[in-house]
Amino acid sequence: MFEHGSSTPARSRVIANADPGGCLAPHAAEVREALERVLASGRFILGPELRAFEEEFAAWLGGGHCVGVANGTDAIELALRAVGVREGDGVVVPANTASASVAGILAAGARPVFCDVDPETMCIDTDCLNDLPGPLHAVLAVHLYGHPCDMDRLMALAARRGLKVVEDCAQAHGAAWAGRSVGIWGDVAAFSFYPTKNLAALGDGGGVVTRDPVVAGRIRALRQYGWQERYVSSGEGGRNSRLDEMHAAVLRVRLRHLRQDNHRRGELASRYFERLVDSQLRLPPRASALATQVWHQYVVRTPDREGLCAHLAARGVHTQALYPVPLHKQPAFARWAPAQAGSLVECEGCCREVLSLPVHPALRDEDVKRVCAEVLAWTKAVERT
Ligand SMILES: *Cc1c(COP(=O)(O)O)cnc(C)c1O
Repeated sequence: MFEHGSSTPARSRVIANADPGGCLAPHAAEVREALERVLASGRFILGPELRAFEEEFAAWLGGGHCVGVANGTDAIELALRAVGVREGDGVVVPANTASASVAGILAAGARPVFCDVDPETMCIDTDCLNDLPGPLHAVLAVHLYGHPCDMDRLMALAARRGLKVVEDCAQAHGAAWAGRSVGIWGDVAAFSFYPTKNLAALGDGGGVVTRDPVVAGRIRALRQYGWQERYVSSGEGGRNSRLDEMHAAVLRVRLRHLRQDNHRRGELASRYFERLVDSQLRLPPRASALATQVWHQYVVRTPDREGLCAHLAARGVHTQALYPVPLHKQPAFARWAPAQAGSLVECEGCCREVLSLPVHPALRDEDVKRVCAEVLAWTKAVERT
């Protein structure tokens, strides 16, 4: 979108918050070649590219089966249905995640049961699995911003309560807990390949991952009219949610670069940590011995989020509040707000204070340097007033 001639002064260059076009540029030749291959094949739906991508992605994660679907929201819906979640069943979900997480729960006919988050990681407060009143059927473990949930505790508490564990990995391709990738911890996992995600198609795309071949078979039927054999819908039927060959071919290219792209995000995050120590901002959790992050977002917190956002925007640095309104306060979802006031206090704090600074593989070191200089200038200006 932005053409940067060498004569453009560095300061006026706009630093975008997400840059799918820019991320693509380094692999453009390979992407074109993949698209040409699909064009020449004349096969556009459920062909060899999808089959290959499904195998390659599952292997990349460390095992199991992947079933490509149309988008991440569908992936959540079909994943829930495939593990037996039915009309009206309670699904625990943190109230600070993307609307899509809840849209998927509702599409499955289930009922979102909002829970709070750990203020440090901004991922699910696993204690809520003990405390929430039932009946509950599943928990949607959202690995928010590329940070993994505490899967040891979550799996143990879910098992004690008999809950299915569905992972929402839309922001966490390659993140890991205790050295094991997210997506192969729970009963089933949902991925999105939306253009700004760490692994991205050139449009909508999604995937369901599971180690259980029976669950994988159910997803394959659900994504195509309930077909287990051609032209015969069986079981509970299904609908149309397929990942087409063009996207699968592009995803295969980008999967080959994902390790490197995630590594680059990590480098940028390190630069932010170094330069923002004196910024007065609350910085995101650092990687720990257990949590391997993939930095889908680099999220800082400040009570004057709007002030910082406006300061940066005026200087050509685009930031985003993800997400500004907690789910239980959104008109479409408010009817599932908990009766007890104050029970989602950490989620509400996050939504008030979070701001995502630019972090994507196309960003240059000097871009991060400039963002940090502007953040520090803002801090100084605020201190003076
Ligand atoms: C992007 C996203 C989704 C859904 O993805 P779509 O492909 O846009 O449907 C679900 N959950 C989270 C946390 C997301 O960030």
